[in-house]
Amino acid sequence: MADTEETFATRLAAVQARMQRACARAGRDVGEVLLLAVSKNMSPERVREAADAGLTSFGESRVQEARQKIPLCPARLSWHFVGHLQTNKARDAVELFEMIHSVDSERVLDALERACEAAGRSIRACLEVNVSGESSKYGVSPEQLPALLSAADRFFRVTVVGLMTIPPLRPDPEEARPFFRRLRELRDRAAAETGRPLPELSMGMSGDFEVAIEEGTTCIRVGTALFGARKVAAHG
Ligand SMILES: *Cc1c(COP(=O)(O)O)cnc(C)c1O
Repeated sequence: MADTEETFATRLAAVQARMQRACARAGRDVGEVLLLAVSKNMSPERVREAADAGLTSFGESRVQEARQKIPLCPARLSWHFVGHLQTNKARDAVELFEMIHSVDSERVLDALERACEAAGRSIRACLEVNVSGESSKYGVSPEQLPALLSAADRFFRVTVVGLMTIPPLRPDPEEARPFFRRLRELRDRAAAETGRPLPELSMGMSGDFEVAIEEGTTCIRVGTALFGARKVAAHG
């Protein structure tokens, strides 16, 4: 049975092959795209296995889960927060993560700034944009983005480095393309208008990351394709 068993190494090789093909199609260097392993709901043992296979950047979507898990994982890893951040978790988030992908309000920026001040550090952040306008999604609307970006100017310890989005979940990855393209256009315009470089585009997940690579992503957030399906009863 061992020959049909899926291991972390075989799943990682498949993801890397998909990344290579998409980068080749898009004329991009695969080194431009960070593979962020989204380890939510996965045990420290699964993280260790992924780290042993060579992965160094991991994403979590709940501060509480991360606070328990990260101390049990190898120390050299870099952790990113990709979930919805509540202001009362900002202190923990600043302690645990080197980048927050999902800032969607001035209140959160302000809470992160104060937490950074208290901790004597700084943090990088992406602003989450709800490009599709789905009411179930977090993130600012494209119309609200310029105001949030200019609000970010008064914070010195939180550096906004780019934008993030989650497109509607559809079976055909091509359907995500217009949302990824729109995020890139929003980034290009915001960078031109504000003079901020905004180099990062956090977009693309297990089912659609090739399309995101073609549309300019710099960070794909991949859970299922690396770790296998998450347990049904577990939180998202
Ligand atoms: C869970 C999650 C992912 C990973 O999703 P998969 O489809 O399992 O790759 C990516 N981004 C965010 C924000 C998530 O919450």
